[in-house]
Amino acid sequence: MTAVWLSDMTSPDVAAIAARPHRVAILPLGSTEQHGPHLPLDVDTRITAAMCEAAAVHVAADVGVVIAPPLTVGISEHHMGFAGSLTLDAETFTAAAFQIGRSLVRHGFDRLVLVNGHAGNAGAMHVVASRLRLEAGASFVVHLHEWSLAADAFARLRTSGPGGAAHACEYETSVYLHLRPEAVRIDLAVDEPSRALIDDGLVEIFAGGRYGVALGADFSASGVLGEPTRATAETGRACFGEAVANLARVLRQVATR
Ligand SMILES: [Zn+2]
Repeated sequence: MTAVWLSDMTSPDVAAIAARPHRVAILPLGSTEQHGPHLPLDVDTRITAAMCEAAAVHVAADVGVVIAPPLTVGISEHHMGFAGSLTLDAETFTAAAFQIGRSLVRHGFDRLVLVNGHAGNAGAMHVVASRLRLEAGASFVVHLHEWSLAADAFARLRTSGPGGAAHACEYETSVYLHLRPEAVRIDLAVDEPSRALIDDGLVEIFAGGRYGVALGADFSASGVLGEPTRATAETGRACFGEAVANLARVLRQVATR
């Protein structure tokens, strides 16, 4: 298999990719945080990394691509009531992601795709992308959430209603069941659907309301926000496949611009 992870390459390998006319670097943004009683803490990082790897392998024959080491700790203060969750301050996360991206730009990767797996990182990712474009010399920066890549497949297949997909939910559990079924304790999964905290302010990664609501430590009693008991590996496989195809398209466009 073609090497796509920066950490698997030699320095001359990286230099050769950076010298190609069509090239792109990927910066995966994850988290290490509780995902209810049924999922490991690496869900956001693992799903994001797996999608990045599969999409990069898909395009590597045509365009130069490297994936930076994932940022495995995100902005997870609202999960700190649950054992094991790690968090960075927003300022630390933003600085770390920006400086990793800027390092890539300095090595010739002026076209970047930021792929995020944790909703708590969303605002910071936006800031990082803008700073890479405006301050670090990047010529083209795209930023996206991994679940957005799978939105059409999930909309077709979901059996939960609005509020069923926010955290450790039908979506995340399905994709994790596809990637690593042996690590899912599905018998321990509990449903705790997200409820609108104000009218039109439903907290959902797909069917979100018109307004954002900042989550506090009391956002969930179980650690879940959604309906993981509805998850299936088949839904996960379809979502993963669609996400990888969409991400591959993004990578090609960014690389050849
Ligand atoms: Zn998650």
